[in-house]
Amino acid sequence: MGWPSDTQSASSEIIEAFQSSVKIIEDDKINLVFNLHPEATLITASDGTIIDCNKAFLEFCRCKSKNEVLNKSVLDLIAKNDQSKIIEVLNSRCRLTNVEVNFISADGCGIPAEISVNFIKDPRGKITDAILSIKDVSERKRILETLKNDQQMFNVLMDSIPDAIYFKDLNSRFIKINRPKAIRLGLKNPEEAVGKTDFDFYHEDFAHETYEDEQEIMKTGEALIGKIEEVRSKDGITRWVSATKIPIRDKNGKIIGLVGISRDITDLKLMERKLEHANIELKRHIEELQKVQEELKRSNRELENYTYAVSHDLKAPLRAIRSFISFLLEDYKEKLDKEGLEYLKRIDAAASRMNEFIEDLLILSRVGRKFMEVEKVDLNNLLEEITQDFKLIIDSKNARVIVNRLPMLYIQRIWIKQLFMNLIDNGLKFNKSEAPRIEVSCEEKTEEYLFKVSDNGIGIREEHLNKLFNLFERLHSSEEYEGTGAGLAICKKIVENWGGRIWVESVFGKGSTFCFTIPKKYWTEVKGSG
Ligand code: ADP
Repeated sequence: MGWPSDTQSASSEIIEAFQSSVKIIEDDKINLVFNLHPEATLITASDGTIIDCNKAFLEFCRCKSKNEVLNKSVLDLIAKNDQSKIIEVLNSRCRLTNVEVNFISADGCGIPAEISVNFIKDPRGKITDAILSIKDVSERKRILETLKNDQQMFNVLMDSIPDAIYFKDLNSRFIKINRPKAIRLGLKNPEEAVGKTDFDFYHEDFAHETYEDEQEIMKTGEALIGKIEEVRSKDGITRWVSATKIPIRDKNGKIIGLVGISRDITDLKLMERKLEHANIELKRHIEELQKVQEELKRSNRELENYTYAVSHDLKAPLRAIRSFISFLLEDYKEKLDKEGLEYLKRIDAAASRMNEFIEDLLILSRVGRKFMEVEKVDLNNLLEEITQDFKLIIDSKNARVIVNRLPMLYIQRIWIKQLFMNLIDNGLKFNKSEAPRIEVSCEEKTEEYLFKVSDNGIGIREEHLNKLFNLFERLHSSEEYEGTGAGLAICKKIVENWGGRIWVESVFGKGSTFCFTIPKKYWTEVKGSG
């Protein structure tokens, strides 16, 4: 049974309508899929004219609506340099993938992308359209660029560090070295080291040692830090380095090699050796000096003993001579003529002067001999005692001795008294002032006391200042000012025995100030006193 003819035509219309509505529905679906496809896609005619694009493409190209691109040539959206690539792609007429081009967005920015092309053919096999799938690769490019920069930075860093840096594989073969390491290995280019080992560059023994170390590091995973290595090159030159080697692990923690840093410390090592030598030399010199000092001390002691013995022994015969002179002067006064008497008086004066010298020599030699026992000495009381001792001279010269506040010291009383007495005695003696004035003062310093004994006496010429402390050195005759010239030498010896210093400051014609220091280990201030 068939359809009546009008019924037939009606039904074919219905079928057609149905088919076309089915096609419309199909097209909608395709459109929907096309538009929702996440990859930017373009449909162009075979000449490159844009027929359609999806939403993802609009976003990719930063366009608001399709109208901005439809009917334009795809070449308008491509950077000039890359346009030939697109022309080639479209002309090739075969499927192509991942062609790199730079798109130009609506706002004029370049967007790196990869294009894949598919061609649509009509039923006769003629290419009608091209479908361009576009992948935005700007993020990938950026990462690659960053990596390239990082690599460059890493290389610059490696080469600008003066230490040798190297990477080795599990077999201790060089994978990468920096420029300073290449220089040390005698290579022009760091690349030349790749694949080689220490055995290619160093003396076998040294290469063996480093190989063993490195294998141990890679076996145990324990780094080697700052090992001082004596590097021996093949031609026998030795240098020293401080080597640090650290294992490198892959992302699973498996050791895949090591990185080494070695710092050349040859100069340091040479300096160290020189210093060691210098130290040994210094020790030797110090020992020699100590021996000389000991020897000097011994011979000084001997000399002191000898001086002491001689002066002591001289005293007895001198005493006898002086006694006989006095007998002669008393008992034979009448029998001698005037001249004989005069000679005898001169002999007596000379003997008496000789006695003074001997006394001074005795004191001087005693300073070194008796220097052990210290006692608590209140210098204020001591100076009062000395002033009393000098009372006659002070009064006869209409002089004044002014004593400022002085400390209390633990010291050898006999010698501190001798010291002040000599200086005050000189201050009174070498003084032609109408009213001689001696002033004693003391300044406390961190490590020592500084004492001053000043006078308004005759003063000392500058050229004589250094000589005064020599034994028997005098600036005046004994007729002018009596004395032996031993007083200041005794003072010097006393002060130096305490570890102090003594000197004089003077203005000729105006007065002098004798200064001396006593290190604090020789005194103790009594707390709360005064
Ligand atoms: P002496 O007092 O026995 O001569 P010293 O050793 O005490 O020996 O002094 C050496 C010399 O230093 C003295 O002869 C004198 O010329 C000079 N002298 C010492 N003290 C003073 C002083 N206060 N003022 C000037 N000259 C001095």
